[in-house]
Formats: sequence, C-alpha cells, structure tokens
Amino acid sequence: MGFSENFVWGAATAAYQIEGAAYEDGKGKNIWDVFTHTEGKISDNSSGDIACGHYHKFKEDVKLMSELGLKAYRFSISWSRLMPDGTGKVNQAGVRFYSDLIDELLKYGIEPYATLYHWDLPYALHLQGGWLSDDISDRFADYAKVCAELFGGRVKNIMTFNEPEVFVGCGYFEGVHAPGLVLGKEELLRIGHNVLKAHGKAVRVLREKIPGVKIGFVVATAPACPVSEKDISAAEGSYFYCGRKHFLFAESYWLDPLVFGKYHDNILNECADILPEITDEDMALISSPIDFIGLNIYQGRYVRAGENGWAENVPFAAGAPLNAIKWNIVPETLYWGPRFMYERYGLPIYITENGMAAHDAVSLDGKVHDPNRIDFLHRYIREFRRAADDGVDCRGYFQWSLVDNFEWAIGYTARFGMIYTDYETGERIPKDSALWYKKVIESNGEIL
Ligand code: BGC
Repeated sequence: MGFSENFVWGAATAAYQIEGAAYEDGKGKNIWDVFTHTEGKISDNSSGDIACGHYHKFKEDVKLMSELGLKAYRFSISWSRLMPDGTGKVNQAGVRFYSDLIDELLKYGIEPYATLYHWDLPYALHLQGGWLSDDISDRFADYAKVCAELFGGRVKNIMTFNEPEVFVGCGYFEGVHAPGLVLGKEELLRIGHNVLKAHGKAVRVLREKIPGVKIGFVVATAPACPVSEKDISAAEGSYFYCGRKHFLFAESYWLDPLVFGKYHDNILNECADILPEITDEDMALISSPIDFIGLNIYQGRYVRAGENGWAENVPFAAGAPLNAIKWNIVPETLYWGPRFMYERYGLPIYITENGMAAHDAVSLDGKVHDPNRIDFLHRYIREFRRAADDGVDCRGYFQWSLVDNFEWAIGYTARFGMIYTDYETGERIPKDSALWYKKVIESNGEIL
C-alpha cells in the first residue's frame, strides 16, 4: 500500500527559531525576546535576535525548499510581529513579510501550513497576565481573525497551537522556557483551560472566515511502544494515562476535551478541588470540530505489561543509540504514536515534526555528511508508512527542521536542520540527508 497519492512531504520551522530581525520593522517584543536576554536562561547565552536571518533571506530559503522537492512548508506566525502589542494595531511590515513568504511558497507550488502559536506570546499580553488572564482567549481569537482575513485566501491549512505540553510545561511549570515561571497546579489548570478555550474560539473564527480551511492541533508526544503483541493494551493505557501529578505532559489532558468535549476522568476526579470553572458552553467551544491532529515525535519508550497488567517501562539497553543531545532513538514511535492516536481520536494524522539533532560539521570537501540522520529518517519514516499500511489515516510528514536553528534553552548547540546554517555568515548548505530526503519525496516513500 504505502503512502497515499496526496501524501504531503514537508519541513517545519518556527518564527522565533529562524526569523531573527527581532527588533526590526515595528515587531513588538515577545516573551522569548525577554527570556533570552535574562542572565543564565540559555545555555550558550544566545538568543533569536538574528537566528537564521530568515526574515531577510526567506526567498533564498524558499528556493532551497523547491530545489529539495518539498511539497509543503510548516512555519509559524509571530504574533508580536503582526500585532506588536498582541491586540489592536496591526504592523504593516509584519503583514508584508508573511504575505510575501506565502506568495513565494505558492510561486514554487509549495503548500503553506501555518501555526498560529509556536510559543512566542507578545510581551505586552504577558504583562497583563498572559495565559492566566481571563480575556487571553479573546485576544487569541482576535489574532486568529487578523490572520484569517489577511492570509486565509492563500493558506488553507492552519494549526492553532504547537505543543501546549511544552510551552505550558516548560514555561509555566518547570520554568526553563519563557516566561520562566514555576506555578502551582491550580494555576496551571487555569492556563490549560484558557489555552483550550483560545483554541476553540480560534477554530470558530477560522471556519467562519476561511472556506475549506483544514484546522489542526499539534501535540508533543513520546509514544509508549509495546515490545510484543501481548503488551499492546498496557502500552496504550500507559500512553493515554493522565493524572494530577503529570497532567500537563499527558496528551489526553489536551486532546480528550478537544475531541470528546470532556476532560479525562482522572482530571475530573483527582483535580476536582483545584479545577477552574468549566461550563458546558466552554466544553462545546473547546470541542469545535477540527480536521487533523499533528504529532511532534522525538522521544519515546518501550513498554511491557507488568504482572498486575499495568505497564512498565523496559529499560534501554546499555549503549542504546542516542541523538546528539542524548535523546533515545525509538523508530517504532512513528508507528505506535499515530496508531494509538488514530484509534483513540479517529482523526487524520500528520507528523508535524520529527528529526534528529546530529553532530553536523562542514567537511573538507565543503559538504555536510550526515549518514546518521539518513539512517534515523529511514527507520522512522518507514515506521510511519507501516502505520499507513495498517489503516491509519496518515496525511503527511514534516521534517524538523528546514534549517539548523535556535533550539530554545540550549541555544545553537543542537543542529536539527536538513540544511546546515553557518551562523557567522548566514550561509546555507543542504546536508546529504536533504538530498536523500528529496529522493524519498520523489518516490513518495517507496525507496524506504
Ligand atoms: C518544538 C520545536 C523544537 C523541537 C526540537 C519541538 O518541541 O516544536 O520548536 O525545536 O521540538 O526540540
């Protein structure tokens, strides 16, 4: 069987990680602009001030995308570039940038997939309470409306949020991402509810304004992979487990309300004393139908059924393969993640991010040889194809990332790109794996 004829092959990025031009052309500050300039927050003391300079080099980047045969490009819109204060005035230079980027993509036949929120909350809104404030979901819906009116004629695939687990979990619970807060469970549940309401309001606006729009929600997910047939249900149970302790990082905390219109039972039971007010109207809003689920998969674990039927993690063998930032390599995640998600939620699946941080360097011959990444991608994408063969509605695969870029709290120390970035000169060099990926795209995955 393999991938369907219309399978979408792409690459992904996010505004703060690649654009740079952080203080140019009327862009407002966002929480990452402030966080990166706070002593000790980023391991190499860097920031996204300049990043890959994509704001100025987008035409070169789109040309490269086309040369590499990409069919689609997933990027995020910087809310504070478009609306410097997060609300009210729209920055015309920001409009021009995204509009020109979209036109350039379409000129080459590359389908734009836009994410509205990839973590860069306008700082002005943060100062007013940010995700904790009562009116943040309305501000987000207003922003979605501006995006829909400006770009909706040309952009038909829109994701509201990227990885709420990570931006809430790392930003408001662990404090290692912007805005660097460490809040208690009650406040975190309020933030979660506000994010879900913001999503629901945006879905309604997007549907009203953009005929034929396809809307998605993207989660970060580390699938539990059963080690044998008899471990499947234990793995699935463990994958969707959600409780008071770690709810933020549980996909079912976010996706159950969004798809079923009801929080996971464990949340309702175990957190009853600290839940925010949740009305039927909220739940109807939150579960406004969407068209697909985006999975960002980097990590995972192996699981077996323990003696009492509960899942237990199977330890990684000594010397098990790791990427350059020490994340375990578990190719089966691209089978089990999509399969479990599809079985539970019944929505089409995109891999909206998957890729490998490797030790990339320019060799004497001026090229970047990354055989490990080729092997990684080969193993992972093959697993995704196996999911398609087994009946999962697999719609597309976006490699993270188009170019090496600013990797949040660890700055420029991890290279995830298909294209090498020389941060001194801004030069781009497609890595061997990018040329290999081109062949995968040309064969629609058949050479895997
Ligand atoms: C994020 C990206 C990030 C990548 C690698 C995802 O969590 O969406 O912004 O660079 O993983 O860590």
